[in-house]
Amino acid sequence: MDLKIVLLGPPGSGKGTQTERLCSELKLTKISTGDLLREAVRNDTPLGAKAKGYMDAGRLVPNDLVVDLVREKLKAVKGGVILDGFPRSLEQAQLLDKFAKIDLVIDINVNEEALVKRLTMRRTCKDCAGVYHLEYNPPREEDKCDRCHGPLYQRTDDTEKTVRERLRVYKESTLPLTKFYHEKGILRKVDGEGDISTVYQRILKAIKAKK
Ligand code: AMP
Repeated sequence: MDLKIVLLGPPGSGKGTQTERLCSELKLTKISTGDLLREAVRNDTPLGAKAKGYMDAGRLVPNDLVVDLVREKLKAVKGGVILDGFPRSLEQAQLLDKFAKIDLVIDINVNEEALVKRLTMRRTCKDCAGVYHLEYNPPREEDKCDRCHGPLYQRTDDTEKTVRERLRVYKESTLPLTKFYHEKGILRKVDGEGDISTVYQRILKAIKAKK
């Protein structure tokens, strides 16, 4: 499948989990700016050093740090792509428009209190970035990734205070995006409440309608 898809939705809406599944079942390539930035922080690269302070505070990393990253990754990919976590502002969407044609934008909707609950109980694998939820999707072994046995940890930006800030930032910066893509006629809203498979089927339906 050759589609370029953007997955929009607030932190905790399940974007990461749904992206993983879509990529493995539909053979799409994931480009997740959050994962790429965390990798840069972990590897102590110059990009990581510049991005870390913004990330720990739940703020957006400046455009010049993320746009080039996405442009390079897109250039290297053949076939379909899912962008997870990018664009995150109207300005990023306008910049993206200059070097890629997006076919479909899926906007996952979940209410705020459910998001706080999901995020503060989220655990992430240090090695493969797999995500778990202590209540809804617990790992088989405590603190270990089912897939690669890597150690699970709580992201420094998954604490309640930072989560609330990320949701505020999301509303402020990302919602104008839905208007932008709605006007282009490529936005599809998907109800993000319910279990992972139910939401997955809704997303799949939106993608199939586009093919
Ligand atoms: P995520 O894993 O998508 O929730 O991203 C984690 C953090 O990485 C965000 O809170 C931002 O600090 C940073 N980040 C990820 N994607 C972007 C982006 N497109 N623009 C700016 N900052 C980003």
